[in-house]
Amino acid sequence: MAGKIYIRATDAERAVLQRVMTTYHPALLQANIKVAMTMARKFDGNEQPVHCVKFAGANAAAITRTIPLRRRVYDEHDAEIEVDGLTWDELSEAQREALLDHELNHIRASVGDDNAVRLDDMGRPKVNLVPDDFTLTGFYAIGRRHGRTALEWRSVSHVHAELLRIIEEAERQPMAVNG
Ligand SMILES: [Zn+2]
Repeated sequence: MAGKIYIRATDAERAVLQRVMTTYHPALLQANIKVAMTMARKFDGNEQPVHCVKFAGANAAAITRTIPLRRRVYDEHDAEIEVDGLTWDELSEAQREALLDHELNHIRASVGDDNAVRLDDMGRPKVNLVPDDFTLTGFYAIGRRHGRTALEWRSVSHVHAELLRIIEEAERQPMAVNG
């Protein structure tokens, strides 16, 4: 079985990233934060594509990382989005935009007391990663054994209710895109 391979995103794929940045993350552009986009792909023994991006052991659609200072010496980027190539292939254009909006939402310019973007020794903007508002993990077996007492159920139902409330609120006010 071949290992994981990394491919620089094509111009068409980068155009989606650029569009999402311009629409939802102008602050990243103003801070001159350069985001690399890498497609990760892997094939099984029958040359069939498989999912290969993992976060904490579970399949992930994408991962966002900051580029550490030592790599910025020769790399012009400040953050990197690694996208699971097979997931990308399976998504519609609108879903790809939502995925990249999610990943870009993890990236924030580090701002000092004077509200100016802090710079590193290379003169590049310092970048912070923002954690997800929620992450869902669990075992189906715990749901089977503990039913609605399981934290699995409590967290999923809480997130479901909260997300539905936000989506319905946004549908009533379609102009409010940020927040
Ligand atoms: Zn995330």
